[in-house]
Amino acid sequence: MIKFFNTLSGKIEPFKPIVSGEVKLYTCGPTVYDYPHIGNFRAYIFEDLLKRFLVFMGYKVTQVMNITDVDDKTIRGANADEVELNEFTKKFIGVFFENIEALNISKADHYPRATEHIPEMAEMIKGLLEKGYAYKKDGSIYFSIEKFLGYGQLSNINLEELRPGQRIESDEYEKESAHDFALWKSKKENEPFWETEFGPGRPGWHIECSVMSSKYLGQTFDIHCGGVDNIFPHHENEIAQSEAYSGKKFVNYWLHCHHLVVGGEKMAKSKGNFYTMKDIIDRNYDPLALRLLLLSTHYRKMLNFTFEALGQSDASLQRIKDFLYELRNHPFEEGESKDVSQLIDEQMNNFKKGLSNDLNISVALTAIFDMIRKVNILISQGKVYSKDAEKLISSIRSFDRVLAVLPEEEEEPLPPEIMKKIEEREKARRENNYTLADEIRNQLLQQGIVLEDTKDGVRWKRK
Ligand code: AMP
Ligand code: ZN
Repeated sequence: MIKFFNTLSGKIEPFKPIVSGEVKLYTCGPTVYDYPHIGNFRAYIFEDLLKRFLVFMGYKVTQVMNITDVDDKTIRGANADEVELNEFTKKFIGVFFENIEALNISKADHYPRATEHIPEMAEMIKGLLEKGYAYKKDGSIYFSIEKFLGYGQLSNINLEELRPGQRIESDEYEKESAHDFALWKSKKENEPFWETEFGPGRPGWHIECSVMSSKYLGQTFDIHCGGVDNIFPHHENEIAQSEAYSGKKFVNYWLHCHHLVVGGEKMAKSKGNFYTMKDIIDRNYDPLALRLLLLSTHYRKMLNFTFEALGQSDASLQRIKDFLYELRNHPFEEGESKDVSQLIDEQMNNFKKGLSNDLNISVALTAIFDMIRKVNILISQGKVYSKDAEKLISSIRSFDRVLAVLPEEEEEPLPPEIMKKIEEREKARRENNYTLADEIRNQLLQQGIVLEDTKDGVRWKRK
């Protein structure tokens, strides 16, 4: 049974989708006013782990991730650069997609943009006005939080402190200033605007997620994710808008990941304590080592980023790659062993059990590294055979359908004649015949095979 911690109930609950075997998943996406930082990617990688695990367990997952390309911050940025809003956001959207590809984050089914859904937003706002949940003030339209009785259910806000009728214009604010929030902001100088039947202006931030989630996933869907900073006000306001409009429950399971921090402080643009993917790549780190680092702490725990930890993830990743290399290149004897099959089944079971328990990644990773450690011992004892090696390779590939930390392109094994030459060179080296060893190395180089002598023996690479 799969269980998740649901922010809405504050409890771990068994997961039951609305339609058996199918999961509808909404994940709040980037606000494209700057390059994304690796804190943002912690959220997207957690969501990708969730999605890949559900797919692994046999569910058909439909994922939507919005792109916020109009809000206070994007407008401010475009004005500062003196360019049109879509010109300004374009480059950040491009980098976002490049980065998610480098991090092996699987593509969502839809990436709806706020600016492309203004008529649908106007429609929902109109409905909220008609039902009495929204009101107009100086050309803007606000959601009246006292009208919606469930307000505060997600973030456990203290409703007694609310001062009805007080309004907040800005898209982001703290719990202490929970006021009626803007659904629609009246046209202002130097701001883009859209014409609607209730006048010119632009949407507040929160309405887009209510509109775009229901458009692509239905008015009630299974899982909604984001970082913990999204709980208030963004997700609280999404619930209010959606449920007031449809009269139905909006989302069954709310999953939030904790922050990536640096020296105890949330990694954020405004604090200047952030790294982008470019910073990681410029320092010669493998993006997939970063992926492993970001997913290897449980999603509800804070994760402190250091380059030292990134180096350790890189080493862990290398252990998996070395293991695969060994399985592909070791001269195993024909045959198979029951012990190895049993070990694979056991660890696959542990892996699934771990992740089924609110994505307990530590248990899942321990299953993999335990298997590697135990098999390495068996290999050194000559108790692993050719069929076992094949099964082990495919089990590592299965684990990686969820973790996605290995490069997609697999190295094809080398043809036997080349393997033979590598062995001949090893023999020559053992016999201190370095002239022959170098000669063979050069021959192989001409055939596109590069040899590296490491402390664990020789390794090959294709040029
Ligand atoms: P934004 O582009 O600011 O709207 O954020 C996009 C996503 O990244 C949201 O789900 C945020 O909750 C998440 N996020 C932002 N900063 C962090 C951080 N330091 N750690 C984890 N998630 C974050
Ligand atoms: Zn959202």
